[in-house]
Amino acid sequence: MSANILDGNKIAAEIRAEAAGEVRALAAAGKRPGLAVVLVGNNPASEVYVRGKVKACEEVGIYSEKHAPSEKSSTEALLEVVADLNRRDEIDGILVQLPLPPQVDSKTILLAVNPAKDVDGFHPTNVGLLSTQRPGLVPCTPAGIMEMLERSRIQIAGAESVVVGRSDIVGKPMAMLLLNANATVTVCHSKTRDLPAVCRRADILVAAIGRAGMITKDFVRPGATVIDVGMNRVFDPAEFSRLFGVNTKRREVFLSKGSVLIGDVHPEVAEVAGAITPVPGGVGPLTIAMLMSNTVKAAKMRRASRGTERARA
Ligand code: NAP
Repeated sequence: MSANILDGNKIAAEIRAEAAGEVRALAAAGKRPGLAVVLVGNNPASEVYVRGKVKACEEVGIYSEKHAPSEKSSTEALLEVVADLNRRDEIDGILVQLPLPPQVDSKTILLAVNPAKDVDGFHPTNVGLLSTQRPGLVPCTPAGIMEMLERSRIQIAGAESVVVGRSDIVGKPMAMLLLNANATVTVCHSKTRDLPAVCRRADILVAAIGRAGMITKDFVRPGATVIDVGMNRVFDPAEFSRLFGVNTKRREVFLSKGSVLIGDVHPEVAEVAGAITPVPGGVGPLTIAMLMSNTVKAAKMRRASRGTERARA
């Protein structure tokens, strides 16, 4: 039996269409949401991500602007950029593209972003709001995965969920969201003993590791839902063959581009999983869709809090 493929492009299109509707309504009321993206230096991968984010804003009608301070910027100079964006009322969301150059203290920069404009959901205030189940801004990738599970009608409450990876960006907020949705959650990492056995307990298995094809069939209980967050590029022909075997479609891509994208989940897992996200076309598109949705949410929350302040005055 082959797994049901969870189509991230389709769900991302739905989320973007919903965000576009909300943007139209906000714009009609005189408050078009605005997103500022700060890209420091010329990291090629970051440039691709930022282009995708700016293009998505155009599609859903969000005002966007890109700030590109030099690679040599100091922490102080970037703090000024952030402070200016914090002050500007027409900016609802601030996204500082990571990684920042080594001379910059990334934590200090992320801490300086006004939590009400922190559309990445990385600020400790938003982390605290999430862990205490209060309204706030939630990191885009795990928030997108929750949308995918819910919209695909996958039972979360009561489900055994195993998250492999404990990063602040994916693993930890993912675990918190699943816990808040009443799953029974186990978080694994590089020191976990007998990882395959722990993973086999999962009804919902989330792999956010950064290791090509590490999750093989023996990590997966037959029928489980498998969410593959990993984005790894394979350049080596021998590794390609180990991972993809005789898959002619992927081989064509590999031969024409010289590399191919693969997640943390081995392609053979599709033979045993009940449902699985593909790479590409699974979790990736949801991340940008949720950035749009978070920007709209930030605009609405700031408007609502201003209304409350006016009512108090
Ligand atoms: P990260 O910060 O490097 O964290 C990786 C986690 O995996 C760590 O907690 C690490 O454990 C754990 N790990 C590493 N090797 C392991 C092993 N052999 N066994 C068990 N656990 C192991 O990575 P990340 O930022 O969370 O990203 C993870 C992957 O998701 C990457 O491929 C990244 O490119 C991808 N990603 C995709 C999207 C998307 O939109 N699709 C968004 C973000 C990230 P320790 O803590 O013990 O070191």
